[in-house]
Amino acid sequence: MMWRERLTRVQADLRTRDLEGLIVTHPPNIRYLSGLDASAGLCVVGLTSSTLLVDFRYATVARDLGLRHGLDVQVAAGSLDTATVDLLRRLRVHRIGVEAAHLPVARFNRFVEGLSTGAVPSSTNIIPTERLIERMRAVKDADEIGVLREAGRRISSVARSARRWVVAGMTELDVAAAIDAAMREAGFERPAFDTIVASGPNAALPHARPTRRRLGDGDGVVLDFGGVYDGYCVDLTRTLPVGDVPAQFRRMFDAVREAHAAAIAAVVPGAATADIDGAARGVLERHGLGEAFGHGTGHGLGLEVHEEPRVSRTAPAGETIVAGMVFTIEPGAYVPDVGGVRIEDDVLVVEDGCELLTDVPIEL
Ligand code: ZN
Ligand code: ZN
Repeated sequence: MMWRERLTRVQADLRTRDLEGLIVTHPPNIRYLSGLDASAGLCVVGLTSSTLLVDFRYATVARDLGLRHGLDVQVAAGSLDTATVDLLRRLRVHRIGVEAAHLPVARFNRFVEGLSTGAVPSSTNIIPTERLIERMRAVKDADEIGVLREAGRRISSVARSARRWVVAGMTELDVAAAIDAAMREAGFERPAFDTIVASGPNAALPHARPTRRRLGDGDGVVLDFGGVYDGYCVDLTRTLPVGDVPAQFRRMFDAVREAHAAAIAAVVPGAATADIDGAARGVLERHGLGEAFGHGTGHGLGLEVHEEPRVSRTAPAGETIVAGMVFTIEPGAYVPDVGGVRIEDDVLVVEDGCELLTDVPIEL
């Protein structure tokens, strides 16, 4: 049911844009519309019917999904691009969209060339579009929310175990390996991204990679990890101490915790994403840490670990949140020679505010 509804919503959106179809090439978008988790293939959404185009490797699974989810399936005999051009010629549409952010120029050119050459040039025009499916994906349906809730519970249990690995003598790589093993143990298919373990001065780099550095007394350690569960990503950060941390670090931690709470309090349907970011940023500025917070406050979670909505000061003006969106709240502060603090949780926007999908104590 939900699959047909997704296609119907895309079709309605296409009509408002005066498009007769959309060539979907971004794998997470193909998965969202068809259920197909494939490295190649594409989906052509038409106004009345849609086609999943795959090569022989995915023929069986695509046929099965097509039957269940309401898509025609076509298996390309030769190249996918040639099969796409043939399909477009048969559709005889005038305006068909492509996903500009996900279509290489070379492939775009092959489509245009394929349509314009041959005995009968096609009158199909290829129109670049942006964020059509991404905007739909930002609002989760009931099934997706169920999966994300379960994933949030599981990543929280991994995070609650993490304190035992953050001890003097362990290397950052040791801790990262322990976290990755625990995620697998907790039922995640794979990490959503390379696990970050950044200790002491390394924590001043927001996207540090784990090194052979051994944790030592007085270090603050940023642990940022995420897992993929039933195709959906969750993402969590805690900053933990090794022994006693300096007072300056503790002040920074308290400021980030306050910023995190302020941003979560700002999450209500109708709020502008820029204002949620502003809530966290305002707290850090008041603590003299405005300059130390150089990234956005959060990002959407779903089939991708960074998706819409973007909760940042550079978010499109007027972009607001609605119930059903799932995103992170992750303010941080990074000061060379002192270290870094980041605290990240995942929230679901509900009618009267937000529900935390992750639940882990925030304390040094
Ligand atoms: Zn993260
Ligand atoms: Zn994140």
